[in-house]
Amino acid sequence: MKSVDYIIVGQGLAGTLLAHDLIEKGHKLVVIDKDMKASASKVAAGLFNPVSMKRCIPTWNASVFLPFAIERYQQLEKKLDTSFLNLTPVLKVFSNNEVSKQWKVQYSNTDINQYITAFNKEEKFSYLKDSSGTAQIDPAGNLEVNKFLSSSREYFESIDSYINEVFDYKEFNPETATYKNIVSQRVIFCEGFRVLQNPFFDFLPIRPTKGEVMKIRIPSQEKLDYILSAGIYVLPLGSYEYIVGATYNHKDMDDVVSESGLSFLIEGLNKILKADYELIDTNAGVRPTVKDRKPLLGLHPLLPKLGVFNGLGTRGVLIGPWLSTQFCTNLTTNTNNGLLADNERVNKFFC
Ligand SMILES: Cc1cc2nc3c(=O)[nH]c(=O)nc-3n(C[C@H](O)[C@H](O)[C@H](O)COP(=O)(O)OP(=O)(O)OC[C@H]3O[C@@H](n4cnc5c(N)ncnc54)[C@H](O)[C@@H]3O)c2cc1C
Repeated sequence: MKSVDYIIVGQGLAGTLLAHDLIEKGHKLVVIDKDMKASASKVAAGLFNPVSMKRCIPTWNASVFLPFAIERYQQLEKKLDTSFLNLTPVLKVFSNNEVSKQWKVQYSNTDINQYITAFNKEEKFSYLKDSSGTAQIDPAGNLEVNKFLSSSREYFESIDSYINEVFDYKEFNPETATYKNIVSQRVIFCEGFRVLQNPFFDFLPIRPTKGEVMKIRIPSQEKLDYILSAGIYVLPLGSYEYIVGATYNHKDMDDVVSESGLSFLIEGLNKILKADYELIDTNAGVRPTVKDRKPLLGLHPLLPKLGVFNGLGTRGVLIGPWLSTQFCTNLTTNTNNGLLADNERVNKFFC
């Protein structure tokens, strides 16, 4: 028998962040993951933005989550000796003068002004249809999620802490937390939307949201200095390539890009982009979203060796690092000392 402190099931954003936190606290663990179809992290553009673009208000707990996330990813860049965090301002392209006016009122009357660094005049950008002007949000940016996951996976492999397989519930004893020949103190499930198939946590109120993105090439623009936002977003990758996202759909749970999804993205892009572009690729995944839009972390009400870290929803990159570190502290000190990183939240849904 191999003995570890933790088994982590799933190496998306949630499992990866938690594994790093636990290892840094001196715990021995194994991460079990099989590249499963439609997982969210592999498709995510990885944007983080402290402003809710529809209402021009700060996103949930932004003043805590944003600085924490930036610092944490920068620490992990050093640890993994690679780069995956890009700080790039977001440019909100106003759809009409009324929206521009609302944003200016919010700016004058609320603390959103800490994140809006400029209002630009109309028709400032040659490549944009910006006849109602734009606003600039900073700090913001994106995590190159795939690069973060693959460099983390290499690291877990290098310390003999990675198993590439589908976790088989039939081979698992939840009372003793024994999986095949591995006995563990605790097992934390980080399976994204697939937690709905987990016999121990299928009571959680996950309501998956499929998302589609497309990759384009803009031959006249090597790399814009901004992430564009106008219902859709346009994220510069470099070498004339951009990711355009994303759609939201509660009906399907697959990785197939639909015609309607693609049309939505193209229409959104055509509304703001003056420059010509070519479609290069498309992709889709399923976000682990929750009915009340808050994450789900904690231990099982009847099986205390089992825990869950899920529900990162549409903003996993921004909220994940703080929640992971908080959850790690709660797990290792057996305390409930933080916002939603506690068992009560998970207990609430158990019946
Ligand atoms: C199109 C799209 C765009 C997005 N854009 C952004 C964005 O710009 N910014 C942002 O913050 N968020 C974005 N998101 C959301 C973000 O991707 C999620 O918040 C986050 O990635 C969720 O991570 P997770 O680890 O909980 O789940 P997942 O990424 O789904 O990871 C779950 C992992 O568990 C593994 N797994 C599941 N079951 C098993 C099993 N039984 N055995 C072994 N392995 C298993 C899977 O293979 C997978 O690797 C986007 C999502 C989509 C779909």
